[in-house]
Amino acid sequence: STTVYAIASGKGGVGKTTTTVNLGTALAGAGHRVAVVDTDLGMANLAGFVNLSADGPTLHDVLAGEATVSDATYEVAERIGAIPSGTELSGFAEADTTELSEVIDRLREEFDYVLLDVGAGISHESVLPLGLADETILVSTPEPASVQDVKKTIDLTERSGGDVAGLVLTRTRSGDKVSYDEIAARLDIPLFGTIPEDDAVRDSVYARTPLVVNTPDSPAATAYRDLAGALVEDT
Ligand code: ADP
Ligand code: MG
Repeated sequence: STTVYAIASGKGGVGKTTTTVNLGTALAGAGHRVAVVDTDLGMANLAGFVNLSADGPTLHDVLAGEATVSDATYEVAERIGAIPSGTELSGFAEADTTELSEVIDRLREEFDYVLLDVGAGISHESVLPLGLADETILVSTPEPASVQDVKKTIDLTERSGGDVAGLVLTRTRSGDKVSYDEIAARLDIPLFGTIPEDDAVRDSVYARTPLVVNTPDSPAATAYRDLAGALVEDT
């Protein structure tokens, strides 16, 4: 059966899109069929991470009833379908709950894993996917401000009827003066993995190619493969 994960954070710019794309690519590399969906309508940029140009149908068109889910699903690599979002700055409307839920159900028919790249913050568009996914994966850097905001997203997930699966700490450094296990313990959620700070991440953005393909032996790529292994064991 399919598992739908919302990849969410409190703060923006902590590595959600990087995590969605590389976790998805690592899962596909392990033989699973994966959909990566850009539900971050305000900061839609997933397409660029997988070298997808922005001129075909998008999630916006599907929600507006102007395209089908398969029209907006692009096979960007073997076993990976990417659903980009439009770049216009309109969020989900209240009425879109049913539509987004139908999009997800349609993706369940075709994929083993569906990863929703969720916008930061507490707007309707950021909260909606949390309640529709089977599980939410929280992404944070080890910095206190970022961890603090994760608490709010845990609350939002639970209040919208979703379940929190665990935490991924990104941009970790050998000099960090905190215990990653302690951060997870304080949030009362499992630590799924840590992704080190790595210049290879930025290189992959410029190359418009997922890190795990662009530099498969880099420390961050290795960490994303380990994370994929941990998730498969968890499901
Ligand atoms: P979000 O989707 O949460 O806004 P992104 O995935 O777009 O975050 O990442 C934000 C920025 O941080 C990008 O410039 C990205 O290259 C950088 N970044 C993310 N993870 C790492 C990492 N492990 N090492 C170095 N830079 C990273
Ligand atoms: Mg993003």
